[in-house]
Amino acid sequence: MKSSKTGIGNNSVWYRAGLRFECKGCGACCSGAPGYVWVGPKEAQRIAGHLGMSLTEFYMRFTRVVSGRISLIELANGDCVFLDPKTRLCRIYAVRPTQCQTWPFWTSNLVTREAWQEAANRCPGCNSGRLYTVQEIERLRRLRTA
Ligand code: SF4
Ligand code: SF4
Repeated sequence: MKSSKTGIGNNSVWYRAGLRFECKGCGACCSGAPGYVWVGPKEAQRIAGHLGMSLTEFYMRFTRVVSGRISLIELANGDCVFLDPKTRLCRIYAVRPTQCQTWPFWTSNLVTREAWQEAANRCPGCNSGRLYTVQEIERLRRLRTA
């Protein structure tokens, strides 16, 4: 789930009846246009542990520094470094960064119905599957890279 813009807070809770989402595993949000997958220190530690490597090795092999922040490497074809090229599934799904865990319930997608629909145009999982309550959505929306 690569981001290209920062979410901006908004008071309008147009989604008070909840929203449906179920990932279809298409991998579209982990590839395509250039973007960033931010990784915080706790997340880096967790991913490194999952991969059975030191934190230093993880940073060296899989991350880059962008304006003083750490982001996962993006391959030349736009794929996230952890997107399996064959299955198009995430190779670190269980420990993926918060940014990936909280998609599509990002503030930037929730600001308006139109913004949500824009996200849905790119993500076939939006508006299908399980219904997330507004409380669940708000919890996910507020989670930050750690
Ligand atoms: S269904 Fe949506 S969240 Fe799942 S991989 Fe595709 S674009 Fe990403
Ligand atoms: S870490 Fe996994 S879920 Fe996140 S962008 Fe990369 S492949 Fe996708």
